[in-house]
Amino acid sequence: MQQSIDTYDFKGKKAIVRVDFNVPLNEQFQITDDTRIRAAIPTLKKVLAGGGALILMSHLGRPKGVTEKYSLKHIIYRIEELLGTKIKFAPDCMKAQDYVKDLKPGEVLLLENLRFYAEEEGKPRGLADDATEEEKKAAKAKVKESQKEFVKTLASYADCYINDAFGTAHRAHASTALIAKYFPNDKMFGYVMEGEIKAIDKVLHGAAHPVTAIIGGAKVSSKIGIIEHLFDVVDNMIIGGGMVFTFVKAQGGKIGNSLCEDDQMDTARNIIAKAKEKGVNLYFSKEVVIADKFAEDANTKVCHNYEIPDGWEGMDAAESTLKEWEGVLMDSKTILWNGPVGVFEMEKFAVGTKRIAEILAKVTAEKGAFTLVGGGDSVAAVTQMGYADKVSYVSTGGGAMLEYLEGKELPGIAAIRE
Ligand code: AMP
Repeated sequence: MQQSIDTYDFKGKKAIVRVDFNVPLNEQFQITDDTRIRAAIPTLKKVLAGGGALILMSHLGRPKGVTEKYSLKHIIYRIEELLGTKIKFAPDCMKAQDYVKDLKPGEVLLLENLRFYAEEEGKPRGLADDATEEEKKAAKAKVKESQKEFVKTLASYADCYINDAFGTAHRAHASTALIAKYFPNDKMFGYVMEGEIKAIDKVLHGAAHPVTAIIGGAKVSSKIGIIEHLFDVVDNMIIGGGMVFTFVKAQGGKIGNSLCEDDQMDTARNIIAKAKEKGVNLYFSKEVVIADKFAEDANTKVCHNYEIPDGWEGMDAAESTLKEWEGVLMDSKTILWNGPVGVFEMEKFAVGTKRIAEILAKVTAEKGAFTLVGGGDSVAAVTQMGYADKVSYVSTGGGAMLEYLEGKELPGIAAIRE
């Protein structure tokens, strides 16, 4: 049975918490963005305030074995600063028994990077490039077998399990899903997970209408799942960014050198037909800013997305497009935004993306709309542009959020609920 972190009695208990401490580090191993550590603090403080002890587990990067560069010891200083207490460190997550035994209420133990072991992900390592299918199968079976012991050992450290790592909730890894079965009556979400699930559910289930989704980014192929699933939820869908040109070409437009996925023409046509069938209004960037090269110092002009001359490419939504979108967005009560509507990494072509951020802030403040921003690049955009605290919710789980929006069941969520 799933428990609630708000009502669970942590007194005298050891809680093992799957956090997402996968933070970026510079060459000197200093943390360059501590957002993920800060996000976990309320959950950790709740356990400590309730009289529990904490065992923290996370991955960092993509090590293929024990790698100094990916040691979680580099981030201890920041956890200590943010928690306001010294923490202990177990340099091998499979050999933490003695540390755990001595752990007292109010104390915190951090386990070394889970991914130093292949068993965390349950994927074989070190296979030769020319390994046969049979060898691959055998290696997979072997790691799956040893994974059982890995999960059991982690579970043996604690009395209860908290999953607060939304960013890895779409992976069925040892620490994100498999471990939960050892705590049938003592498993729960942390506040990060709860917040993310609540925010996305607010869009997917029972949202206030009109509901509008803004889907941008480079490729149709990576967004097809979310576009189709959202058709059951939204009234309007704004499609911007590089993927627009695949739609335009599929309908016979001239797109010059613009980004295009030639193998997605049928997909694009199907999406347009499906929108009609479901009564969803589709808005593309009709007028676009085009450039004569993919560079900040390119020459630019504005043109219709069907008439892009040879040698030019679409880089951003133009003013008339943004005006049209603004009208739709200001009348919306629920808005989901995923993906930039232009090449926002270059200042010259960040205008459209910035305007979307501004409009979302405005409709949130002035009309009380619920605005959810998610997916790596749109989150980076709202954060860089200073709008992160002016929208209703910024989701930190890129891939996990996308899969949740596609209607998939995430293993990390299912394992707690089941
Ligand atoms: P995604 O990861 O699919 O959300 O795509 C994000 C990327 O799409 C960013 O790096 C943007 O620069 C890129 N992008 C957005 N609009 C365009 C465009 N018109 N042409 C090329 N790339 C674009």
